[in-house]
Amino acid sequence: MKKHNFYAGPSILPEYTIKNTAEAVLNFAGTGLSVMEVSHRGKEFVAVMDEARALFKEILDIPQGYEVLFLGGGASTQFCMVPYNLLNKKAAYLNTGAWASKAQKEAHLFGEVVEVASSKDANYNYIPKGFSVPEDADYLHITTNNTIYGTEIKEDLDVNVPLVADMSSDIFSRPVDVSKYALIYGGAQKNLAPAGVAFVVVKTDILGKVDRPIPTMLDYRTHVEKGSMFNTPPVLPVFAALQTLKWLKQQGGVAEMQKRNREKAALLYDEIDRNKLFKATVTNHEDRSLMNICFVMNEEYADLEKEFLDFATQRGMVGIKGHRSVGGFRASTYNALPIESVKALVEVMQEFERKH
Ligand code: PLP
Repeated sequence: MKKHNFYAGPSILPEYTIKNTAEAVLNFAGTGLSVMEVSHRGKEFVAVMDEARALFKEILDIPQGYEVLFLGGGASTQFCMVPYNLLNKKAAYLNTGAWASKAQKEAHLFGEVVEVASSKDANYNYIPKGFSVPEDADYLHITTNNTIYGTEIKEDLDVNVPLVADMSSDIFSRPVDVSKYALIYGGAQKNLAPAGVAFVVVKTDILGKVDRPIPTMLDYRTHVEKGSMFNTPPVLPVFAALQTLKWLKQQGGVAEMQKRNREKAALLYDEIDRNKLFKATVTNHEDRSLMNICFVMNEEYADLEKEFLDFATQRGMVGIKGHRSVGGFRASTYNALPIESVKALVEVMQEFERKH
């Protein structure tokens, strides 16, 4: 039976990425060796790193003055690297979920933290609007896509201080005006590569302005200067990231991804809104994520939750169980998920509705 992969992360990657990476695990760039067993300083891998950086810049249309880094430690290490490198006195954080508040928690180690707004009061089922940011904040940190709760900031905000964004779960899902950001980061394991590498897009002139000493490995300048080769980079995830970047370019880039993602999300949200059994947890349409679509049973059908999960699983749906803090279901519709998988899920929901 065909499986439809709705996991939230690690999650579906393009077949192109999987196939080319599998091939390179056996025979990398004609070396007769695995990509896992060659020097990262050899010309073959240096070419991979250079091309990955260049394609990342090209696809996201990154202006001059920014650098792209590939680092270990996941997005969670960025929660501390950001304040280590950028927080002098005060930083502002928008609290839109568990990951946003984990990022915020780390900043407290480095200075004053102002929470400009929070949607915690409603289990993070909306994006707060109309908040003000202190003029003297060193930066505002946002999480553009809240993987657990299914909310997303789908536009690039205009703010009066440098903007820092965790784009772990919506990078490359839409065009981004990078010039509005001082720094963008994320773990690669949703829309880019297997787990093990984090990406950072940093405007280099914001670095070097804090008073504190920074450990070498946690100082962005180290990695800018050494082209992400200060230490051994996660070679396999970087190789896979390059394949996804090539695939993205072949498919028509981020504008095409946005178009497809809008189509997929509309199809599923429309069905959730129509089907008598289900309801979306995010009611405000403009806040609904195009990447993680969260829904629960309507109250009168609450006892059917387990039955629907089994029913859908038997029909090839994988990874639709919701995060424990939201419950119900979550269908992640990342770039690599074909619309056919969304159609298959919609059919399963309709079939289940007919049964009840
Ligand atoms: N930020 C967001 C929005 C996430 O969804 C996740 C993981 O799911 C993280 C951060 C943490 O990423 P990592 O596991 O790479 O540290």
